Amino acid sequence: MEEQGLPSLLITNLTNIFYLTGFRGSAGAAVFTRREGVLWVDPRYTLQAHEQAHHVEVLEEKKGVYKAAAVWLASRRLGPTGYEAAHLSCADFARLEQAAGPGAQYVATAGLAERVRAAKDEGEIARIRSAGRITARAFTKVLDRLQPGVSEVDLAAEIDWLMRRAGAEGAAFETIVASGPRAALPHARPSPKLLKQKEFVIFDLGAILDGYVADMSRTVYFGKPSRRVRSIYNAVAEAQERGIKAALPGVRCGEIDALGRRSLAGHGLARFFTHSTGHGVGMEPHELPRLARGEKARLEANQVVTVEPGVYFEGWGGIRVEDTILVTSAGAEVLTPAPKDRWTVE
Ligand code: ZN
Ligand code: ZN
Repeated sequence: MEEQGLPSLLITNLTNIFYLTGFRGSAGAAVFTRREGVLWVDPRYTLQAHEQAHHVEVLEEKKGVYKAAAVWLASRRLGPTGYEAAHLSCADFARLEQAAGPGAQYVATAGLAERVRAAKDEGEIARIRSAGRITARAFTKVLDRLQPGVSEVDLAAEIDWLMRRAGAEGAAFETIVASGPRAALPHARPSPKLLKQKEFVIFDLGAILDGYVADMSRTVYFGKPSRRVRSIYNAVAEAQERGIKAALPGVRCGEIDALGRRSLAGHGLARFFTHSTGHGVGMEPHELPRLARGEKARLEANQVVTVEPGVYFEGWGGIRVEDTILVTSAGAEVLTPAPKDRWTVE
């Protein structure tokens, strides 16, 4: 707020509200000034907000939390209020302006809380580490039971069940199990398709625990891999390993991305790598920083990011290897420790 010269800030993104206040409901609005914080919730959440929220005053509001925030701000006459432009609908903004009255000034902001969220503290890292361990263990257990004839949906359901049984709140995002030609779709949904010999299967999974998530992908091949299959898998695994090794504080995010692309280019595979190399992980499976082409931001210690190169071949299949890692000056710590060498099932 100080950097932007804003005396007050209206927070409407629920994840940011959770991060800044501890309240984890499905509706609410918060305002921060340099001296105080206020959280408005509707009657469904009054009790929960009193239990969960810290460092803010909790106010119950029956007729619209945004409106209540605008009226409160108007009465304080603090000057311009920043709002989260990416997290307020046009209709809500119109209502807010109407309630605020003619003298009020609202300034669009982008990613203020998100940038603070990128660097994690000890408690957050511990929770992501636990989520990562549960994720890795669920995959390792499923790996022991892999065989042709079982469906993608069956495996995805089993992964979700294993993560929950191990203490997770659930899956942080829809678990991906994509086999054969379906593995060419980077974000395929699990289908009734049965696993077959001579096909790749991509698994992309992540547990959520105490509000923090992990994100991991592994690829498995059924049958005895040909030389071509082996060389493609190894090229992706090598690009991923190089990315993890290079992920040190001070390195530009775009450089990690470029490194993976160069590594795959050495095997003639760069043009099949169709997405970015990675992203931050925390309260959401995708947050800042972005490890993408041309990103100038530098990695910082205690950021948690993924490194996930992948190659996709229409009609044939795909390979992606992804870990969630903690950036430290001593080198990256892999937070999703599932095996990568056991990638063939015969
Ligand atoms: Zn993933
Ligand atoms: Zn990811």
